[in-house]
Amino acid sequence: MAGSLTIDKRRIALLGATGSIGSSALDVIARHPERFEVAALSAHSRVDELLELCARFRPETAVVADEEKYGALRDGLAARGLATRALAGADALDEIAGDERSDTVLAAIVGAAGVSSTLAAARAGKRLLLANKESVVLAGAVLMRTAAEHGARILPIDSEHNAIYQCLPADGSRGGVRRLLLTASGGPFRGRSRASLADITPDQACAHPNWVMGRKISVDSATLMNKGLEVIEAHHLFGLAPECIEVVVHPQSVIHSLVDYVDGSVLAQLGNPDMRTALAYGLAWPERIDSGVAPLDLTALARFDFAAPDLQAFPCLALAYEALRTGGTAPAILNAANEVAVAAFLAGQLPFLGISALIESTLAAMSPEPADDLAVLIACDGQARRQATELLGRMVRQ
Ligand code: NDP
Ligand code: MG
Repeated sequence: MAGSLTIDKRRIALLGATGSIGSSALDVIARHPERFEVAALSAHSRVDELLELCARFRPETAVVADEEKYGALRDGLAARGLATRALAGADALDEIAGDERSDTVLAAIVGAAGVSSTLAAARAGKRLLLANKESVVLAGAVLMRTAAEHGARILPIDSEHNAIYQCLPADGSRGGVRRLLLTASGGPFRGRSRASLADITPDQACAHPNWVMGRKISVDSATLMNKGLEVIEAHHLFGLAPECIEVVVHPQSVIHSLVDYVDGSVLAQLGNPDMRTALAYGLAWPERIDSGVAPLDLTALARFDFAAPDLQAFPCLALAYEALRTGGTAPAILNAANEVAVAAFLAGQLPFLGISALIESTLAAMSPEPADDLAVLIACDGQARRQATELLGRMVRQ
């Protein structure tokens, strides 16, 4: 028709659609029906939430990772009269990440459970909106190599990495970059001594001052392991050495991170703490679209504070730097032990201070090996989980 303009819609597969990142992404997508359509949605086991999203966004495919929930998904879709096809299991996650029904994949599963589908998206040469930081910690080198070989564009969604991506040269060069400065809110226990953290409950640890997030990353933020995982993530995404990646505590969470150049220029990205900004950036790149996030009001903020992280009170950050410097399978061991420790803390089996203790003892009990092969890294992940679970049993019995 004369005068009309049609643009190809981005077809998006959302892995981890029922989570905090998934729902923020769907909020942005819903604001731009002319640009985006939902090709696939996945959840782990929360079928009712997944069915609600299917009714609203009408994807071609819905996946529940827990195979026992397949019947509930299939029957729920039929009962609602939806044409969405139901799939279940880990292989189905790889399928929706890699198949031709989508051109863009949001990797927003929590934990190393997301590594296989994240890699499947990279192998398929998709636009990869990467929130699942644990897969980068586990297999960062493999992921970056796979993305480069298959022409996948990785757009970091973690707010710090999204900020750095926006502040680095667009041509991918790193000339003149002196340091990356990752900001950290300091979490809910900023300023507290280690001794005062002994009786922290899961609900206290999950009450983050600035961000509303899933429970695992909320605990990671409270221990500062989240920042440790992010240092490793930044190393892989941006190719800088550990000594060129620094952490600065910034309680307001408005400066999302900074790049320090050799001429003394420091570029930063600022915004209200709301993940929809990073998600809108990734979805529309290289364009800019409305995300629903309120404009930043600097006068209402009035001040920015900065401090060095307290590694005595929060040893997880130091453990992560050490694992990155050791290299090989050490970050995989760190990540697996952290996942076991956080799950035990959330289940009321391990005290808050036991999280770093369990990670440290798991790292001490295993010998890191050189590894740039996915099979070796996945085997190490499994071995580290068994080791951490055994050490956890001993700690709990004491
Ligand atoms: P949530 O816990 O809110 O959501 C996790 C999602 O993953 C849910 O859809 C869940 O399904 C699904 N899931 C959980 N376990 C599995 C599994 N074993 N197999 C398949 N799917 C699974 O997490 P968040 O949204 O907070 O975080 C997601 C990722 O993004 C994490 O890696 C986190 O570190 C990262 N991130 C999050 C930020 C945030 O603001 N939340 C900020 C920066 C990074 P179900 O609902 O059925 O359980
Ligand atoms: Mg972050």
